[in-house]
Amino acid sequence: MFSRLALFLLLLNSAKADVTLVGNGKPAAVIVTPDKPTRVVSYAAEELARHVEKACGVKMQIVTESEVKAGPRIVLGPCRESGIASAKLAPEAFRLRVTDEEVFIASDDSGGDPLESNTRAGTLWGVYEWLERDLGVRWLWPGELGTFVPKKKTIIAKTTDETIAPRFFRRHIRPGLGFESEHPALGFTKEAAKQYSDEQTVFLRRHRMGRSESISYGHAFTDWWQKDGKAHPEWFQLLDGGKRGPKKKGGRFSMCVSNPDLAREVVMRWSAKRPPDATSPAFINAVENDIPGLCTCENCRALDGPAPADYLTFYPPDSKVAGTRFVSDRYAHFWLNVQRQAPAGATVIGYAYFNYFSAPTSGIRLNENILVGFCPSAGWFPRSEAEHAWMKQQWTGWCETGARLFMRTNHLLDGYCMPFIFAHQFADEFHHAVKHGMVATDYDSLTGHWATQGPNLYVAARLHTRPEASAEELLAEYYAAFGPASAQVKNYFDRWEAYTTDSHEKISQAMQATQTSRWRNWAKAAHLLYPPECFLAGEKQLAEAAQAARGDEEAAARVKFLQLGLQHAKLCAQVSAKLTLAGSTATKDEIKQVLEEMLAFRRAHERSFISNFNHLAWVEDLSWKLSEETKQTPDLYP
Ligand SMILES: [Zn+2]
Repeated sequence: MFSRLALFLLLLNSAKADVTLVGNGKPAAVIVTPDKPTRVVSYAAEELARHVEKACGVKMQIVTESEVKAGPRIVLGPCRESGIASAKLAPEAFRLRVTDEEVFIASDDSGGDPLESNTRAGTLWGVYEWLERDLGVRWLWPGELGTFVPKKKTIIAKTTDETIAPRFFRRHIRPGLGFESEHPALGFTKEAAKQYSDEQTVFLRRHRMGRSESISYGHAFTDWWQKDGKAHPEWFQLLDGGKRGPKKKGGRFSMCVSNPDLAREVVMRWSAKRPPDATSPAFINAVENDIPGLCTCENCRALDGPAPADYLTFYPPDSKVAGTRFVSDRYAHFWLNVQRQAPAGATVIGYAYFNYFSAPTSGIRLNENILVGFCPSAGWFPRSEAEHAWMKQQWTGWCETGARLFMRTNHLLDGYCMPFIFAHQFADEFHHAVKHGMVATDYDSLTGHWATQGPNLYVAARLHTRPEASAEELLAEYYAAFGPASAQVKNYFDRWEAYTTDSHEKISQAMQATQTSRWRNWAKAAHLLYPPECFLAGEKQLAEAAQAARGDEEAAARVKFLQLGLQHAKLCAQVSAKLTLAGSTATKDEIKQVLEEMLAFRRAHERSFISNFNHLAWVEDLSWKLSEETKQTPDLYP
């Protein structure tokens, strides 16, 4: 520790360049905004003041540039004196400049709601960057308890002059706020849902989720058969037997992607909808429908490359991919065809999905105006080493075609609310993607089980701004927030990660035996993978963590948060054992009785942010034998 004199000398020494914002518990600077700040700048100023206050108890004053007097200041947004040409910065990029007595943070912010993901909010990103660097702020989970701000009496902005742009033009973990259930009593009350949603939205922006370019895509042809099937059956899949279109009336269908008229039609329809004066980057959606590529026509088949020997190795036998033909190359050709017919500079979007997920083998060359979403139908975490390596190879293979890639996996939907940890493997995949050309992310979806899956979620969010940081570094940040219990909490999650990794085979077997989907109805099998005895060691570890955290109120509250998560997970696994659709014979009265404790727990803790209960209600509806009671609103029942 520094003596007072040493601290004084240190401050004196650095005074030339660094800026003291709070000196020994006294405000030493003000926050300055333009006279007419945008909503982004006003919000950035509030966020800055809020976190500084949390660090030292000092409320920094927010003033406009016309009101400000001489003296140290932190200047946000396009103020006259900042001299930062914000308009020349790349979208969402910000400049952070700390010089004599002044800190400047500015960007080319757009108007609009700072919490809306389409709003360009670089000034806000600059504030968050500074809070992380010089204040050591870490956002662990939504809400006040998840906001870690080290206590300090003196706050100094360290000298720097940098321009920082987000690494990915779109950073997105789908927020998972739209889950609906036939049994809403299992979920949040209306008010709790709103609070959860508000806090999570703030949290995601703190991790800089958003986008520089407006982009939309999705299965592109879902209504085409209905509208165009009669006039243009040749645009649609040819089935064995010579029929075009869906197998069954109203069923899903894929397209005849070798047909050059289809590619032309995609561009024409896009062009017709695009305003003639549009200046935004052009994205053309050419994502196949939600079904394997099934066209059997000669032209489509002629485009297919040789199927790799391991093409189907990592799909379970009941996968939609099992038994299908390998068709990646025809899709690569299709996107290239669309792109060649599109105006220069337009980007065509496709998914590497189902039987066109594996990297192409024909040697086809794509280019940077083709953007491919990496969307495997397998590869759930934890993976065997061989499977993990195979998944990464597919990414590299697509990257080598010359296309740009974005992560569009569904793997975060896995695991229900169990202590299901795969942070290291997840980070390894992310790092591999970053090294091989990843330009954006779109993860489906954030299920929000913060108290049991915190390490996965923290690493997933934080990699978006620290893409090179190792899982160890990021997890060390997370554990540090548990203060004197950090070592115990690390041991606790390390143990669950080992438990998860070791369960690799067991998970696949249990899922197959109970016909459970990893993303839809995990609660059918939760009891098989998390029997009561598996919780004992974790409970003991958290009791030790609680002991270590005694005397540190904040750390103790965070340990308590983990304990609530574990207690809740154990209750849910117990209910799964009794109500699983894979065999439950419970009567109406028994169902009511089995759910009683779990529902009472949810009502008592729904404001704690341990879990997104609406996600759980959605999963459980599809997993459990339930009766009428839980069809009521949670505001009335239990
Ligand atoms: Zn075809």
